[in-house]
Amino acid sequence: MNNVLFLVDIDGTLLRVDRQVTRGIWAETWSNIIGGKVPWERLDTAAGKTDLQILAQLLGDPDYACRIAANFFDELAECAQRSIVSTSIQLCHGARSFLVEAQKYGARLVVLSGNERRIGWHKLRTAGLDRFFLEGFWGCAVLDRHHLPPIARDWALQQGLVEELSRVIIIGDTPNDISCAHRYGFVALAVASGPYSIEELLQHRPTLCFPDLHHAAVSLQRIFDNPAMNRRLIIAIDGPAGSGKTTTAQLLAERLGYTYIDTGAMYRALTLAALESGVPLTDQTLASLLESIMIELRHTSHGQRTYLNGRDVSERIRQPDVTALVSLVSSFPSVRQAMVRLQQKLGRQGGIVMDGRDIGTAVFPDADVKVFMTADLDTRAQRRFLELHASDPSLTIDDVKRQLDQRDTLDSSREYNPLRRADDAFVLDTSALTIEEQVETILRHIRNKFAMSNSVSQD
Ligand code: C5P
Repeated sequence: MNNVLFLVDIDGTLLRVDRQVTRGIWAETWSNIIGGKVPWERLDTAAGKTDLQILAQLLGDPDYACRIAANFFDELAECAQRSIVSTSIQLCHGARSFLVEAQKYGARLVVLSGNERRIGWHKLRTAGLDRFFLEGFWGCAVLDRHHLPPIARDWALQQGLVEELSRVIIIGDTPNDISCAHRYGFVALAVASGPYSIEELLQHRPTLCFPDLHHAAVSLQRIFDNPAMNRRLIIAIDGPAGSGKTTTAQLLAERLGYTYIDTGAMYRALTLAALESGVPLTDQTLASLLESIMIELRHTSHGQRTYLNGRDVSERIRQPDVTALVSLVSSFPSVRQAMVRLQQKLGRQGGIVMDGRDIGTAVFPDADVKVFMTADLDTRAQRRFLELHASDPSLTIDDVKRQLDQRDTLDSSREYNPLRRADDAFVLDTSALTIEEQVETILRHIRNKFAMSNSVSQD
């Protein structure tokens, strides 16, 4: 079983360090660097947090914590290396056998921990577990643990360790570990060997939950065989203009490590080509125009860019002259047939988020996930107005509303592949949601649809 990446937490998952020893290390460092006693009453819990986050919470000042972090952690690491010895560490049940078994299956093991780097490695070395890990991603530089998984993921992709992000598993003992996995579409494997019980962990809907790593070790085959580990989804997002499709789809693709495909940009590029060539807008002329031009969607670090015959037209196709004509151009049957074929070719490998008007109904009627995004006309008009007002101050909100309404009417009333909600689409009304909430809601929907049974395995 190759190409599986385990991102493994340390404390509470693999091992436990004597609490008195840990507190002693912080106390000594605090008194040397800051002076006085550690105000432990300011910290609700350390579980699931990064060391920098703990420092920030104890100080009550994140900026100050970041400023003194280098100094503080030098001292803390030095003190930990002196104080944490093998007798201060207790291995969690099954930790070693889990790592041995996972390696036998060919899984790659990487540390994902809130620990300061030197302290984390020291704990693993002292416990005799360091040799299992290829690399570590640590909590000395980030205030929020959620920043770590994409760093680990990008590293693993770059190293060619994983191809499919559904084959990344975060293993940890806290709700924070689970939500880190959920946020990026990874499998969340929770173990109740830390401060949280199985019941508490299950409330956060991990993909799998075990009492400890011993139980996970004997279930490895079952984990690897699960369909949730082996799929690259096709995610179709449809909806009217201004419903938030593009931003949401882009962010969703980024989170999942998928490719984003903006089909509206393809119709817009054709419309621009028609405007520039001056051909009459008929089914026949547009079909032959489409054959003679080259539309490309290139993926860059600045997101998707649209090219027409090798020219970057990403901004040009958003201009009002293109917007005014695009719905007419895209209503012709031959145009739609050719575009749908092209889009099917672009997306059929999976691992894509495609947005448009007919993705869930015509382009990929069997898409794994279909989302239909809506929002009331006033909200959509307000959003578009804010986007367009800077470049065209004469524009009024009523103009925008009228244009949106016209475009929606044309898109939904055309005969061929109109804008329509697929019967099996998940409807997401974005009127009162932020972009982040929209992405989270879709991820939750995907998770619920594809989660391995939320089973607690006790065998
Ligand atoms: O999404 P965007 O506003 O860029 O789409 C521009 C136009 O392209 C839509 O109003 C619609 O007329 C057309 N379109 C379509 N089918 C798609 C995507 C876009 O007809 N799949």
